[in-house]
Amino acid sequence: MLTRFMTLETIEAWLRETNPERLELLWQTADKVRKQTVGDEVYFRGLIELSNYCSRNCLYCGLRGERKNLERYRMTVGEIKACVLEAKVLGYGTVVLQSGEDPGLDPEVMADLIRWIKREAGLAITLSLGERSEAVFRLWKQAGADRYLLRIETTDDAFMQVIHPGEPHGSRKANIDRLFALGYEVGSGVMVGIPGQTYGILAKDLLWFRERDFDMIGIGPHLAHPDTPLAKVNTNQPDQVPNTEVVTHKAVALTRILCPEANLPATTALATVNREDGREMALKRGANVVMPNVTPTKYRKLYEIYPSKACIDETADMCKNCLGGRILSLDRKVGKGPGARQRNKY
Ligand code: SAH
Repeated sequence: MLTRFMTLETIEAWLRETNPERLELLWQTADKVRKQTVGDEVYFRGLIELSNYCSRNCLYCGLRGERKNLERYRMTVGEIKACVLEAKVLGYGTVVLQSGEDPGLDPEVMADLIRWIKREAGLAITLSLGERSEAVFRLWKQAGADRYLLRIETTDDAFMQVIHPGEPHGSRKANIDRLFALGYEVGSGVMVGIPGQTYGILAKDLLWFRERDFDMIGIGPHLAHPDTPLAKVNTNQPDQVPNTEVVTHKAVALTRILCPEANLPATTALATVNREDGREMALKRGANVVMPNVTPTKYRKLYEIYPSKACIDETADMCKNCLGGRILSLDRKVGKGPGARQRNKY
């Protein structure tokens, strides 16, 4: 049964489903739930990729610290402020400040910037700056940050150890607990089709999203970066989840049904695997948010989490017009204001 109370076995069976009629039922159910809960508004979150320095070595990520053939950058506070003002002029209600796990990002400088954004632009602020100490999470919350994105990447402890070498056991989950306790709106998510991810593991991840009642959940396909260890891993294991658009849509649609009120982005990774209408397809199958890039074009190509990212040459203005047109073509509306998670509508 396709309800928010479906079991782990049911979720796994749907992830494996290939019958076109059954899949049509999945897409329609997710779209119906999306309409009843978060409605027709599609909210824009202006994404600022402020630094590609990273002290971690996540096996899938092109920003991993051990990768030496990548020019590193860290935007100045002045550059970040200019991007924030651009997002405001474009009418976006939220800015997302994202980076690698960059020890050079001073927590106090960030706190000052957060206060400035609140004061001068009045936008909702989402942070996506990796794992930090509780004191730093608190500092940023008190400075005015509203939301924090920290994808779990996998809920499976053994697989976590493989893809996040050196990560202390349970630290992502513990950090997510801290973010909730501090009063952030909390976002998480996973990639679909990381080598070693089985259907069973992915089904458990989706169930965990429901258990933790996340406010936002980002799901995109894993896109192998040739300069990462995962590019060389054999993906022919029997239970391996493929990193295809359709399996990613199944994960997005199931997440919409399991977490009816969550904000779900049509991710850039989905737009990258299907440049023609990747975002529209996700918006039709459960998603309700887009994250147009407002990073200066000269830095975008250096924020190379995976290769050939969609929209790296466009200006922020072009992104807005293109996305706005796509949303209207779906008979949806461009959301106004911050677009925070609304509770108990469903
Ligand atoms: N340093 C921050 C932000 C990471 S980038 C953090 O750790 O939270 C945002 C997301 O990009 C990651 O959470 C991951 O899910 C995704 N990502 C990383 N490498 C990727 C790849 N090769 N393909 C697709 N998505 C990737």
